[in-house]
Amino acid sequence: MPKGIKKKNLSQKTCVSCNRPFTWRKKWARDWEHVKYCSDSCRKHNRLIHFKSYNGY
Ligand SMILES: [Zn+2]
Repeated sequence: MPKGIKKKNLSQKTCVSCNRPFTWRKKWARDWEHVKYCSDSCRKHNRLIHFKSYNGY
């Protein structure tokens, strides 16, 4: 089991597109649970990557 995973990780996530940590922002207050990207550009960028890897799977 990996150590160091804290339950108190709610206010920080790692962007699935650029792999950088980002912190909670007010604009995400409503759906922070579902936020995966640090920015809109990452979200758009990741769509392309996702599409590619989807085909490659
Ligand atoms: Zn990002």
